[in-house]
Amino acid sequence: MPFSPDSAHQGADPRLAGGRLTIDLGALAENYRMLAQRAAPARVAGVVKANAYGLGIAMVVPTLWQAGCRTFFVALPEEGIAARRAAPGADIFVLNGLFGPESAPAYAQHRLMPVLNTQADISAWEAFGWDGKAPRPCAIHVDSGMNRLGVTAEELHAFAHENSLTQAVTPLLLMSHLACADDAASPMNARQLESFQKVRRILADSDSSLSNSAGIFLGPDYHFDLVRPGIALYGGAPYNGGRNPMKPVVTAEARIVQVRHARAGETASYGASAALARDTVIAVASVGYADGYPRSASGAGVPLRYAVTNGAHGFLHGKRVPLLGRVTMDLTLFDVTGLGDAANVGDHIELFGPNIPIDEAATAAGTISYELLTSLGKRYYRHYVAADQPQ
Ligand SMILES: *Cc1c(COP(=O)(O)O)cnc(C)c1O
Repeated sequence: MPFSPDSAHQGADPRLAGGRLTIDLGALAENYRMLAQRAAPARVAGVVKANAYGLGIAMVVPTLWQAGCRTFFVALPEEGIAARRAAPGADIFVLNGLFGPESAPAYAQHRLMPVLNTQADISAWEAFGWDGKAPRPCAIHVDSGMNRLGVTAEELHAFAHENSLTQAVTPLLLMSHLACADDAASPMNARQLESFQKVRRILADSDSSLSNSAGIFLGPDYHFDLVRPGIALYGGAPYNGGRNPMKPVVTAEARIVQVRHARAGETASYGASAALARDTVIAVASVGYADGYPRSASGAGVPLRYAVTNGAHGFLHGKRVPLLGRVTMDLTLFDVTGLGDAANVGDHIELFGPNIPIDEAATAAGTISYELLTSLGKRYYRHYVAADQPQ
């Protein structure tokens, strides 16, 4: 859909939806500007793969563009086409590379630049040839220790030598990716930095880029010409431990569809997984794993999570309330006894947002903010708050 904050609603009719997502585009823009300040003089790209981490590429890309972002990274060519529609003037790189020689015309048609990860990618882009003005622009990914994508240093040497003779492609960017940047104490960071600094000289005329969100916080040595944050833009903590410096962008809430009074000694949810030690007021929320609220966030009754024993919390009427028993497909129970009789049908309980940090909700489910965001189901009513519009 076109970018128009006034009509910025997607998904179900709000009166008919089980849950609602509020996406604060102002906070997104603020997070971009904060990272831009921290990374300067390096430029800051926006990583908008997986539909901008589930938040909607059609709304996220124009917001970042207005905040000054001119370069975007997607994972797939289809996502690149959506980003192109949202930002006609942007530089758009496709991280997962070229999808075979037959995909090259689509990249050219939509002015997408592949990140060439293999010699086969390089050959196919070379063979595709000139666009009449300049040899095809692209990025080259060199592996610095993660062993996921990228050519080796030797392959980069061979490419640089050959391309200096043929000028068959224009490598605008040389990039690599950090494996442990969220752990500042990891010796892997310095090792990858050193490896990247060495190979960078091989393509000295190209811009270089190493850091994701977490890498930005490792210091200026890691910034080079361009940084590539994703999760920090969307409000996730960019590194482990310490205070999250980013503003929350997403609030997920679910409608309460029943409030019930259960007696001490009874049980609740599948598997009779919550044993009630006291008389308990239960708020039944219209959200479940079919919405991307993970079953592993259950308060009880699922195999033990790593380092997590208690399950998730919701937030209602100023108080944190524990999740009770198993999360089911469409419904989740919360123990709202502590609220007295304040919980009512039609109230919305916060699953994560300003009061339950997204990283806390993710940890409670044994996962990370990235997975929580990219799993957000299609059943939520989505409401976008414009960058210049008060909440
Ligand atoms: C996903 C990705 C990023 C963004 O990572 P965040 O941790 O979300 O900031 C940057 N670079 C590459 C190569 C990626 O795959």
